[in-house]
Amino acid sequence: MNQTPRANRPHIALYGNRNAGKSSLLNAIIGQEISLVSNIKGTTTDPVSKAMELIPFGPVVFIDTAGLDDDGELGNIRVNRSIKILQRTDFALYVIDVNDFNETSYKEAVLLFKRFHIPYLTVFNKMDSLNSIQLNSFKERYKNAYFVSAKDGDNILELKNAIIKGIESEENEPPIVGDLLPYNSTVVLVVPVDSEAPKGRIILPQVQVIRDCLDHGIKSYVVRDTELKDALNDLKSVDLVITDSQAFKKVDEIVPDNIPLTSFSILYARYKGDLFKLVEGVNAIESLKEGSRILISESCTHNHSHEDIGRVKIPKGLVKHFKHDFNFTFRMGHDFPDDVSEYDLIIHCGSCMINPKTMRTRIKLCEEQRVPITNYGVVLAYLTGILDRSLEIFHFLN
Ligand code: SF4
Repeated sequence: MNQTPRANRPHIALYGNRNAGKSSLLNAIIGQEISLVSNIKGTTTDPVSKAMELIPFGPVVFIDTAGLDDDGELGNIRVNRSIKILQRTDFALYVIDVNDFNETSYKEAVLLFKRFHIPYLTVFNKMDSLNSIQLNSFKERYKNAYFVSAKDGDNILELKNAIIKGIESEENEPPIVGDLLPYNSTVVLVVPVDSEAPKGRIILPQVQVIRDCLDHGIKSYVVRDTELKDALNDLKSVDLVITDSQAFKKVDEIVPDNIPLTSFSILYARYKGDLFKLVEGVNAIESLKEGSRILISESCTHNHSHEDIGRVKIPKGLVKHFKHDFNFTFRMGHDFPDDVSEYDLIIHCGSCMINPKTMRTRIKLCEEQRVPITNYGVVLAYLTGILDRSLEIFHFLN
């Protein structure tokens, strides 16, 4: 379980004003001290995120955020960081100190949860400090809220069960390839092992596609591009070839027309984002002009091979396609701008290291600001003229 990548764990974030008891509540829920607790307002200055087991649900990421009422120059930076966390939050807890309830802040937070389509629970903490009349009056007004005491552990178990129920009802992880092919199909995965490949391992999308094939009884054969031709000859029938986007052109030439072909990145466009929107976004390429502003967004900083695609191959491919230059901006990790309106096109990486919520929020932000967004695999397929072929496998889906 500890091996479950962060990107595949539901992200549960705690919001609320300073000193609402978010950190002590988190410690009480998980039964260990992961967040620093004190009575001093603003002890949590930056979001603290921790991958862990929420028993009996399984692996999750908890994020303890700084108070939403923080003030001053630094405080505003912290608040913005907490708000940024909304983009990757699958489930939220809004924590309130029953002795210091600010209804306006609460309503503002609820609006934000609604804006980002985040299911949430309202949690009144420190119920131990109220008498029964006061408590009942709160309960009367906030019928769906949870009343807990992180200090005494009162109602923590009920809250934990409600969180699990909430994330379970949201859990609807689609297969990566399992719904595209019937049981017992044959898939060949093409993984070039060149100087750009990470040493001694294969990357996450490839690992996850193999696991998805195993889960769905699909036979998967992993080969380098250099052995692909022999592998296709060895196998009696092949239902699908999935390649690393970097080898798209070469693999397209090797794979006969009667065998469907797609890429890991295109599968991820559907799995983590929205394939339809990302394909729609690539159509904007033809309306780009010299100097158009293109944001290239990579969700992690460590994969040189992907860096090479984003920083070198895609810009070069675009310049070659149009025979003129563009104005490229590169952003990494969680540094995705809230305001994307200055760009003419966003090209996103395959997003294997971020959770689907983050990617879908980014797509939504672009949609709201009418800025087309696409991803590496879709662009590379487009530029090599094989986008239609790489989408054929999805045609029978709605
Ligand atoms: S850059 Fe994107 S696709 Fe590449 S490894 Fe990082 S998260 Fe995955």
